[in-house]
Amino acid sequence: MYGVLRSVALAAGAACSLLGPSTAPSGPGTVPTAAPHPVRAAEEAPRGGADGTLITRLRTPATGTSIAAPGRDTLFACKGGTLTRPDRPWIDAHGVIDVRKRPFVSGTMHWHKYLKVTTTGTGRRFQGNGLPDHSTGRFPVQQGTPAYQYYAEIPAHGYPNAAAIPIEPWNLDVTVPRDPSVRARPTCIDQLTTGMALAGGTFHLEVATDAQDRPVDPNAALPLDRCWGHPYDTQYHYHGPSQTCFGSRSSKAPTNTPSRPRHSPLVGYAIDGFGIFGPRGEDGKIVKNSDLDVCHGHTHTIMWDGRKVVMYHYHLNGEYPYSLGCFRGQPVTVPGSGHGWH
Ligand SMILES: [Zn+2]
Ligand SMILES: [Zn+2]
Repeated sequence: MYGVLRSVALAAGAACSLLGPSTAPSGPGTVPTAAPHPVRAAEEAPRGGADGTLITRLRTPATGTSIAAPGRDTLFACKGGTLTRPDRPWIDAHGVIDVRKRPFVSGTMHWHKYLKVTTTGTGRRFQGNGLPDHSTGRFPVQQGTPAYQYYAEIPAHGYPNAAAIPIEPWNLDVTVPRDPSVRARPTCIDQLTTGMALAGGTFHLEVATDAQDRPVDPNAALPLDRCWGHPYDTQYHYHGPSQTCFGSRSSKAPTNTPSRPRHSPLVGYAIDGFGIFGPRGEDGKIVKNSDLDVCHGHTHTIMWDGRKVVMYHYHLNGEYPYSLGCFRGQPVTVPGSGHGWH
């Protein structure tokens, strides 16, 4: 969502006039059609895929937290800046987000995922349409739903506001190193896409911008759908500990999962080639940031292309930045990914 920043910059003049009371003719979207009962659909429970753990409390950073250098509990954005903690009813005074108090983007939409992952001696190539193999919330965000106001206040280039952005397929084609190596220094994040989920969507930089163009934690500022996703510039992507909906069809974990909790399965690949795993560490407990390095990863034995290897990898968890904080390897550029910097 950081890309909205760029949208704001490009569309600032036009956006202001579009942010007034919604009295402008809004087209067919406001016609009270026989909507496909989005409220009922919203009751659909998150699936217990991958390891299914629904993390309900997230630790969001305080206002003034720097994102200009690598550090634990923050991220390293090439553009730099500081975060603002938004004023939202689901965040308590200690900066804890209660996910159960945050509305989901309601409704249900189904997609036809296409994702082909192929390997060569040195590369791992992802070719797909960017669509997930699980259902998503209904985008554009519908007027009258609890999530609407939070999206409607954000300008979006090419749309009346961010609530109007739909999900669309796009041409994902990127090759990352198959066996990446750890570099001496972490690399900052300079594009929105930080990784590809096996479920079909992408992982994004954990920074969005608010109506005043300030960098914010997207999980703090915005309702997401039940799979922790939403579109930016029509590309569906995840924020936070988004493993909840993973585990269907091709992204399904091996079926011989023992009942005893263990290390979470692989859920995707970062654009530096390292794996992204769910929230459970080697002992089966949800990893804390204190278990991880500044890029939100660590090194131990994992399964990699069917072999046991000692290797660096990233984890999703409930402490900001929730997913990648920086790159331990050498990131590639994802064609078609927004950058978001002015
Ligand atoms: Zn986003
Ligand atoms: Zn691990």
